[in-house]
Formats: sequence, C-alpha cells, structure tokens
Amino acid sequence: MPVTSGNVLECLQSSLLPNTAHGDPTVVSPDDGRVWRDASMPYNTRLTGSISPAAIVYVNTTQSIRTALKCAQLHHHPVTPRSGGHSYAAYSLGGPVSPRTRADERAIVLDMRSCKSIAYDSYSQTVVAGSGVLVGELAEFLDKRGRVLPTGACPTVGVGGQALAGGFGLLTRERGLLLDNILSIDVVLASGKAVTASPETHADLFWGLRGAGASLAVAHSFTFQTHPAPPQVTYFELSLLPRALTPGAESTFRAVRLFQAFHKFGSESADSRLGLSWHVTPERGKDNTWGTKVEVLGQFSGAENEFLAAIAPLTSVLNKRGETAFTLDHRSLSHFDSLHNLGGNWTRLKDRGPMNINEHVHFYAKSMITKRTLPMSSLSAHLARLLALSAVHNPSSNTEWFILAPFLGGANSAIKAQNDSAFAHRDLQMVWEIYAKRIDEEEESTVNLIDLVQNMVFDLPPIQAVYPAYIDSELVHTDYARLIWGDLYPRLREIKTLYDLDDLFRYPQSVKPIIRGFNVKWVLVVVVCFVVFVFRLWWTRPKRTRRSRPD
Ligand SMILES: Cc1cc2nc3c(=O)[nH]c(=O)nc-3n(C[C@H](O)[C@H](O)[C@H](O)COP(=O)(O)OP(=O)(O)OC[C@H]3O[C@@H](n4cnc5c(N)ncnc54)[C@H](O)[C@@H]3O)c2cc1C
Repeated sequence: MPVTSGNVLECLQSSLLPNTAHGDPTVVSPDDGRVWRDASMPYNTRLTGSISPAAIVYVNTTQSIRTALKCAQLHHHPVTPRSGGHSYAAYSLGGPVSPRTRADERAIVLDMRSCKSIAYDSYSQTVVAGSGVLVGELAEFLDKRGRVLPTGACPTVGVGGQALAGGFGLLTRERGLLLDNILSIDVVLASGKAVTASPETHADLFWGLRGAGASLAVAHSFTFQTHPAPPQVTYFELSLLPRALTPGAESTFRAVRLFQAFHKFGSESADSRLGLSWHVTPERGKDNTWGTKVEVLGQFSGAENEFLAAIAPLTSVLNKRGETAFTLDHRSLSHFDSLHNLGGNWTRLKDRGPMNINEHVHFYAKSMITKRTLPMSSLSAHLARLLALSAVHNPSSNTEWFILAPFLGGANSAIKAQNDSAFAHRDLQMVWEIYAKRIDEEEESTVNLIDLVQNMVFDLPPIQAVYPAYIDSELVHTDYARLIWGDLYPRLREIKTLYDLDDLFRYPQSVKPIIRGFNVKWVLVVVVCFVVFVFRLWWTRPKRTRRSRPD
C-alpha cells in the first residue's frame, strides 16, 4: 500500500487496509463524535480533559503497524501503542497535552486489541501471547493447562503494557517479574522493520525492551517461559485488632511494631513462596466511626499447614514483642481463584467495550521503591498521620484511599537473581503504591486527590526510585529518568539512539535519544568566544584622534 502525503489522517485512511478482525473501524479521529469520545477515554478519568491524541489506529498485523508508523513519521507525530489502556498517566494515549500543544505533537495511538493470538507449546512449556491479550485472559488460558506466570492480579491490564514495564504479582518472590520470564519479543521498529528481540538476536534491544519497551518499539507478541501452577495456595490476612484502629500513641506504636516485624521477616527469612504485602486503609469500626485497618496480606504457594510453618517466624516475633491482638485469617484455594479474589471485577474481561476499555477510575497514585527499612522517626510520623487521616475519613467526600506495598525483595526472592534487563531496581525491597480515588467517578469529590496523596507521603524520606508500571503523572518536570531507570539510563539512551533516533516513540516520561553533534554546552562556549572576540576587536580598534580647533 502506498503511504500518501496530505495530512496524517488522510495518510492513515488511504494507506491502511480495513481491519476486519474484530469489526472495529481502522482509524478513529476527533471528527468521529461519540465513537471518538469512547475510543479516546483514558482509564484514569482524572486526565480526561487533557488527553487529545491525533488519531487511534486499530492495528492487527505487522504490516498495518508498519504503515501507521510511516504515516506518523511523514507527518512528525509521536506514536504510542495501547494494549490494555491502563497507563496511570494515559501515556498510551500520548499523555496530557495543553491547548498550546502543536497538532503534530499529538500522538497516533496504535490500539493493539486485535493482536490477540495466544498459543501454548506443551513441549517447551512456553506461551506466545499477542500484546493485546489481557492479563486475566492469559492467566485463564494458562490455568486450563496447569501453568502460571507471575502477572499482577488485575485482569483487564494488558500483557503489552505490563510485561514491558515490569509486572509483579503474588508469585513474584518465587518466579521474578513478568518481564524476567520473557524469552523473546516480536517487535516493529521505528524503521518499520519487524524483528525478534531475544538474547540471541538484537540482544541490546531485548535488554532495553524489558523495562523501557514503550520508548523503543511496538511489541507485537511475547514468548514467555511458563511454570507449573501450585496445586493449591493459601490466601491470608494478618490484621491488627481492632480492625479499625483509633489514632493515638498506642495505635501508632503497634502499627510501627507490625511494620518492623514484617520488614525484618521479608528481608531476612520469608520463604520465596510467600507473597507479602503491607496494607493500610480507612475502615469503619463497630461503633460506625472510622479507624485504620493495618495488615499484612498475601498468598503462600502451598497448603495451609505449610503456610502456618512459613508465617510462624513473623507471628512469633510479634508475640515476643508483646503484640497479641491480631488475627491471622487464611484459606486454601487455587492460584487462579486467589487472583480472582484480589483482582477485582473479572466480568469486565467479557464486557470489554468494542473500541476501548470499559473501565474508568478517577484517581491519583504515587509509587515509591524502598531498598531498606524506613527510619524510625519518619515511619512513626507517617503511620500517626495515616491513623489521623482515617479518623476523619468521610465517604460523603466521595474519596477512598489506601497504601499497598508488596515486599518483593529479601533474602530468598527471585527478583534479585535477574539483572540482565532494563528494570533498574533489582535491589528493591518494597514497591509502594499510595493511591486515592473518587468512589463515584462521575461525581465531584470534595478532596483534592493529589494533595491527599502528597499528604500521605509527607513524612516519608524523599523518593529515590519508582516502579515503571505505576507512572506518576506529576513526576514529569522532575528527574523522572533517574527515578525510573537509575544508573541504566545512559545505556538505554544509547539503545534508543540506535533504534529510534528521531524519537518516534515519545511520551512525557520516555527515554530520550542522544542528539550527537549538538551539545548545548559547546554551543554556549562558541557563542561566548565569539562575543569576546567581537568585543576585543571593537576595543582595540584604531582610535580617531580629535582635531584641535584652529585658534
Ligand atoms: C487496576 C490496576 C491494577 C494493577 N495491578 C498491577 C499489579 O498487580 N502488578 C503490576 O506490576 N502492575 C499493576 N498495574 C500496573 C499496570 O501493570 C501498568 O499500568 C501497565 O503498564 C498497564 O498496561 P496496559 O497494557 O493495560 O496499559 P497501556 O496503557 O496500554 O500501556 C502502558 C504503557 O505501555 C506502552 N505499551 C503498551 N503496549 C505496548 C506495546 N505493544 N509496545 C510498546 N509499548 C506498549 C504504552 O504506550 C504505555 O506507555 C495495575 C494497574 C491497574 C490500573
């Protein structure tokens, strides 16, 4: 198909073959009224007013991806693929723009929903999944074959967006991140070339895709090494009593004590089969007043009696330190049922809208990776603040909040063993999500969500590292690259420069290419030298001598 000139829409419409796979239109643009409104609605509706891509293209083959890339390049638009559409900052729609944003800075979105193929090879026990497969669909498909991958629990998240940024779940301490289980990725490069990135071919690209994939190429499909599903798992919640703690010195002391015991257990001795998370959220007490639920929850890959032995070091430390007012609820189920339990609404998998996700939340979240325990003073101030915030919690403000922080690292965690990808923070211990949302997303809330979340982290030490899959929209004007990719950023920029010099795959927090031959520092030096040179010429010019007036 020839790629024509004119504007980018004409180019896309005239060059792409109709997408017959799922009956979707091939190209949707802002001229398409309601269809456009639905197709371009972000998962995070807090950003709705500032999201304005140039077009959404429903691609289904490498050829259609290639054609869309060509049109975008011809008209200088950025390209952002969309798999499950759950980016916290709507980066799969190009991210927030302002009315001053140039038309050609608005993204061409490649919707990958039609890249849905999924196939299991029982000999190698590998699965090949298209980028548009959703995490819940992958888990369900594997469960039927007695296999698992360490995905997150939310079923409607896309495999594409999760696998390229990290992907952790209940099995991560045993099986690593989702991206650690990728054997190869089929991608289309900015040049339009379709290649397979693996340890053998395009190894540098393969390294970069796993941690920074959205900046480097369009991933079409992934090959994963699967693992046997545990025959049964034990889901558990260890909660301080009463379940709704009231604020005050004693509650703060008890919450600090639980955190410290949990942290020590996670870092020093927890079995790799234990998935452990720290969880704090407001909870209504028996007398109808609000308090704070403080708990450790998670899953153990094994039977209940084995679980009780595995968790015993934590409970006995609590007992030794004088904490006896807690409950340990546990029950046995399958890993798949445990995912169901945690992951919210699985029916959404079936009623996914034709043009977009059918699920929207108005929220703000911050992420934080910690690599050691928190200093006592900030931990205690932080928990005292959360206890106080819960006590004034009022659902009529239309706001809900929580902190959920899995302990993914520690002595026995598989996460440390892998270090051959662009996921930078292998020495992590906990990945924190600090989250606030509207209860009813259609209604206003009387609380500013960003202020609330900032307040929740106010007493914590400055954030040194963040989780790449929990994009914090507010980091855009900070040194986000250091927080996301740490010391790996220079190598990533080299790879970006090699594969996408013109920065086709750009969004507010993407990897930037190195523009060689142009260095602001040297330009300044040349300008200063030139000014000095001109000034000296002027200063040393032959001075005209004044004629003396004749008498
Ligand atoms: C309710 C909820 C629960 C979550 N739970 C977990 C969890 O338990 N564990 C966890 O690790 N994460 C979790 N996440 C975070 C989630 O993994 C990330 O938001 C992920 O990036 C979403 O992927 P997506 O495909 O749905 O999103 P998208 O918005 O489609 O994509 C996210 C980013 O990846 C890029 N991208 C998508 N597809 C491709 C592709 N094919 N090629 C190149 N770039 C691509 C997009 O351009 C965008 O920048 C959760 C998110 C939500 C909303």
